[in-house]
Amino acid sequence: MTTETAAPAHLTGGPELPQERRLVTEIPGPRSRALHERRTAAVASGVGSVLPVYVAAAGGGVVIDVDGNSLIDLASGIAVTSVGNSAPEVVRRVSDQVAAFTHTCFMVAPYEGYVEVCEALARLTPGDHAKKTALFNSGAEAVENAVKIARAHTGRGAVVVFDHAYHGRTNLTMAMTAKNTPYKDGFGPFAGEVYRAPMSYPFREPVQITGAEAAARAIDVIEKQVGAGNIACVVIEPVLGEGGFVVPAEGFLPAVAQWCTDNGVVFVADEIQSGMCRTGAWFACDHEGVVPDLVTVAKGMAGGLPLAGVVGRAEIMDAPQAGGLGGTYGGNPVACAAALGAIATMEDLDLPAAARRIEQTMFTRLGALAEKAPAIGEVRGRGAMIAIELVKPGTIEPDAALTGKISAACHQAGVLTLTCGTYGNILRFLPSLVMPDHLLDEALDVIEEVVLGLV
Ligand SMILES: *Cc1c(COP(=O)(O)O)cnc(C)c1O
Repeated sequence: MTTETAAPAHLTGGPELPQERRLVTEIPGPRSRALHERRTAAVASGVGSVLPVYVAAAGGGVVIDVDGNSLIDLASGIAVTSVGNSAPEVVRRVSDQVAAFTHTCFMVAPYEGYVEVCEALARLTPGDHAKKTALFNSGAEAVENAVKIARAHTGRGAVVVFDHAYHGRTNLTMAMTAKNTPYKDGFGPFAGEVYRAPMSYPFREPVQITGAEAAARAIDVIEKQVGAGNIACVVIEPVLGEGGFVVPAEGFLPAVAQWCTDNGVVFVADEIQSGMCRTGAWFACDHEGVVPDLVTVAKGMAGGLPLAGVVGRAEIMDAPQAGGLGGTYGGNPVACAAALGAIATMEDLDLPAAARRIEQTMFTRLGALAEKAPAIGEVRGRGAMIAIELVKPGTIEPDAALTGKISAACHQAGVLTLTCGTYGNILRFLPSLVMPDHLLDEALDVIEEVVLGLV
């Protein structure tokens, strides 16, 4: 353990965790394999793991497994540990909170941390109108509640979502999610009154169209097949997450949002993956000045503790009757303390700017790689939410097999990568926003070597 490889303690959660890629066994190693046997016997097989190395510690930009391997983490627990896995401000506030009290239930006896998180979200989300917030435990729960709130406000029932959308795994959010396998197959019947409109997916348009044209296409489907007067809300990820890190054509989001405003439809931005600095702004909607009526947040907001929220226009948020929203654990005091620590870290370290620097590095390196590797159809994304879409060279035919091989080879080389996309042909990168530059460079070296070795 050398001091040169250690990132500053304020970034990693402690000087003890060297920021390096280091492989000391095969991947997974013997201790991980032994744990995996126990897991296979005890844990339901429907719960998967991308890479069965069992974690002993994690922070900054690395995951250290029980065999002593140190892997560069380009997953961040699916865009959650943006401030690191044990950011000092999160650790400090969580420790203090656990020592004070772990739970009272905000619906029974409230506490300041919950209120403070709601105040912070009102300040940070797009728009300067009066806002209110309700807190929950998971992203899916936030999406479900956004729909409840929109229905209570409008007195209408229909929900419009888009192709390639991912909104969660509960019954309503399964209906809202586009992809059948693995998210929906065998789990129906699904909630009714959910309608799907065409998304703007520039790489896969047969003919290039503008964002305004893509919005007109979607609005035409919505008006003809659902009818504006029946629609409570339109729910959209401003940058698709599981669907493939698709950035809609410029002008698409503003046009859909404007149509919602004109028709009394609640515009809900699902920023669960794209929000909280991930895309180089506090929220992905900020890139085009879009001000949603409601925003769902989760993943990156609480430094790894389970917390989610719906933030929105006060008059819409106040539509449900008292007692209509909530849950035993929603806005748990420990999770709120973590969120306040994560938000303080994001502000102190200017993590939107850090995400923009990551974007620049990744676009430069991956763009150069795409020149040499015709299987890379597109490099896209925003901030620290970047992906490459893999295709049969010269076509847009998805190459999921190659994507799986590249990801597996990256794992073997000590870089934790994820795949995604409706066609399973997208390799996505979600580094923590406090990842040291030299680690990101090294991860990109590995990706380059792996891709050039396989195409
Ligand atoms: C992850 C995700 C969800 C679901 O969040 P959970 O906490 O897993 O329930 C919903 N929407 C988007 C955009 C997501 O990325």
